[in-house]
Amino acid sequence: MSDNYQKPNEEQSQRQFRDRPPKKIDISVVIPLYNEEQSLMPLSLSIRDALDRMNTTYEVIFVDDGSTDNSLKILREIHRKNRRYKYISFRRNYGKSAALSVGFQNAVGRIVVTMDADLQDDPNEIPRMIEKLESGYDLVNGWKRKRHDPISKTIPSKLFNYTTSLMTGIKLRDFNSGLKAYRREVIQDIKVVGEMHRFLPVLAHWAGYKVAEIPVTHHPRKYGKTKFGINRFWHGFLDLLTVLFTTRYSKRPLHFFGVLGMTTFLAGIAIDLELTIEWLMGKTAISNRPLFTVGILLIIVGVQFVSIGLIGEMITRTRAAEDYVIKEKVFN
Ligand code: UDP
Ligand code: MG
Repeated sequence: MSDNYQKPNEEQSQRQFRDRPPKKIDISVVIPLYNEEQSLMPLSLSIRDALDRMNTTYEVIFVDDGSTDNSLKILREIHRKNRRYKYISFRRNYGKSAALSVGFQNAVGRIVVTMDADLQDDPNEIPRMIEKLESGYDLVNGWKRKRHDPISKTIPSKLFNYTTSLMTGIKLRDFNSGLKAYRREVIQDIKVVGEMHRFLPVLAHWAGYKVAEIPVTHHPRKYGKTKFGINRFWHGFLDLLTVLFTTRYSKRPLHFFGVLGMTTFLAGIAIDLELTIEWLMGKTAISNRPLFTVGILLIIVGVQFVSIGLIGEMITRTRAAEDYVIKEKVFN
């Protein structure tokens, strides 16, 4: 045997090691959390149980949204025990959307699953969600059919889901569910800015992705308390307006304001015309009719709505080429 053989070329073997493609990760579980110290350990154990059974490769990305309790310490410990569990920690609390967004940016899986950290979502649902996704969908939403939450939360939530479904035309029953599974492309294309996490299925649908919903089990919150107060209700509805404007009508504002404005304007004209006819026929003097003012008000407001729509159209014209979602591009 030659000397050469006994001493393997170190540089070469290192290069081989470097060139070997990293093990592909199939599923990334992204978990936003804010002060959930007691739930984290049991949660990571139950995720492990559920996903180990699936015989796949996965990573779990915890995004600590500026917790002030011991959450970060526990995440460090979880990571030390098992490198599959990664974490990112914000210096301050930025909100669930921000946490999801950063989690998405760092997820490498072919499929990305999100869930809440408070043990309300059940990791045992993940296999079914993925099965549904693989049957030809791009986003699968978990519908908390039997919710274990106080009534102060379930009723506003019902109203929110109903209105959102009505306004967006998307037939989902639980828009704001924490448990969702996405194909990677979806999260690359849609951006979770502001407080838009409530509308991810809406944004995905409007970007042309196929969205499905399956019922999932839901548990009562075991530790700590909810991070969203009554504000959730108002914020939810204001955000619905934002989402309508920034997506559906952002390229055609006049269709929204124009319809509103024309209706108001015509109603005003009709009222005042009627009063004028009555006056001409000598019935009552217009000055004695309070309705006259209402008519004028409607006309003015109507004109304003249409003008706002027109200004909106001018703004959209000056914007650079829009970010259309491209599915495939062959360019050679
Ligand atoms: N959360 C977060 N940042 C926040 C508020 C909440 O990351 O500013 C996380 C929270 O820790 C939990 C998930 O978002 O994992 C859902 O929050 P919560 O359970 O309080 O909402 P609810 O179930 O009451 O709708
Ligand atoms: Mg919760």
